[in-house]
Amino acid sequence: MKKIRENVILENLKGEEAFIYVSKAKELERKGYKIINFGIGQPDIPTFLHIIEEAKKALDARFTGIYELRKTIADYLNNKYNTDIDPGEVIVTPGAKGAIFLALAGYLNPGDEVIIPEPSFPSYSEVTRFLNAVPKFIPLKWLGTSKGFELDLEKIEENISDKTKVIVINSPHNPTGAVFPEKQIRRIYDLAFENNILILTDEIYDYFVYDGDFYSLLNFPERRDNILYVNGFSKTFSMTGWRLGYLIVNRKMADKLSKIAVNIWSCPVSFVQKAAVLALKGDWTPVHDMVKVFRRRKDIMVKKLREIRGFEVWSSKGAFYVFPRIKTILDDAGLTTEDFVNRLLYSKHVVVLPGTAFPDKAGDTFLRYSFAVDEEIIEKGIEKIKEFVEELFMES
Ligand code: PLP
Repeated sequence: MKKIRENVILENLKGEEAFIYVSKAKELERKGYKIINFGIGQPDIPTFLHIIEEAKKALDARFTGIYELRKTIADYLNNKYNTDIDPGEVIVTPGAKGAIFLALAGYLNPGDEVIIPEPSFPSYSEVTRFLNAVPKFIPLKWLGTSKGFELDLEKIEENISDKTKVIVINSPHNPTGAVFPEKQIRRIYDLAFENNILILTDEIYDYFVYDGDFYSLLNFPERRDNILYVNGFSKTFSMTGWRLGYLIVNRKMADKLSKIAVNIWSCPVSFVQKAAVLALKGDWTPVHDMVKVFRRRKDIMVKKLREIRGFEVWSSKGAFYVFPRIKTILDDAGLTTEDFVNRLLYSKHVVVLPGTAFPDKAGDTFLRYSFAVDEEIIEKGIEKIKEFVEELFMES
């Protein structure tokens, strides 16, 4: 009988490795252990009440959908960046992940190359692979504990070929916490324009900036055709589970991608649309208050991590992650970053993510810590990590 074969493309597809560690932690929790979780990529502060109330009102009114959200997103960005986005250039998606998928699906043909500064959020490379295109990872430069991470512009330029279709920029950056300076963003923009390449810019952490200025690729309205702009509500409004993001893309492509959207999910969940309109138009005080809380947590986390022997810690400028280098510890103990993470989890019940979860090799001597966690827990969790590292040094 004829065998039913799966799509071969699924064989090598990876998920988000963060979820593997989160489910290991959940299993330990079910066994009764108390877990401290620094693996989380979503704000721990609940969705703001006024947004929840708006969704409830929409449900009670049997509300079934609007055009208003696209217009609200366009107005919001136009005000922020003094640009001229038309609501017809906005596609609302299930999370920013949906926007990343649509952007790449719109342009990638088999064999096209996508330049991805690495470590990186895993969706960029996995969606690229899913579309039979090729991720080209270019490691960020690690400049040590006072300067942190930087785009390697020379390497990016060297790796541009006839096949290069897209360069991915994610600033503020997950997982390193880097915020790339205007000079670097401008250079990428010029490179893209000179070589007629697209830039997929994922700016989902744009409000989480603690040091210096954030520079958006929407600051270049004159050549927006080369820009695929991704953002969403998960981080800024703490709405991860609501699944709402958006893509800004030129009008012609937006019309084509809308057909994918219509064929797969029709439109975003109706009452979520209402809540999102209010999120953008309503009171932003809770957002700014949340960022203040996160800044304080970051400072505490950096200070505490710096007290651990063998940890090289750069104080992140944005997002909500610290990405320390632990090369000497790994070398001395003969461990990989995954070994370190697993041993820490099972012996001290603390979750952190290995740098290799993002998703190739550039992070292989690093760990990612999320500070979307209460201050007291940060203090307690890092004490346990300190103990763990001291025990490792005693063993080796
Ligand atoms: N882009 C980056 C850089 C992220 O870190 C995340 C989530 O962790 C996403 C996109 C996905 O966001 P969403 O929940 O809106 O799909």
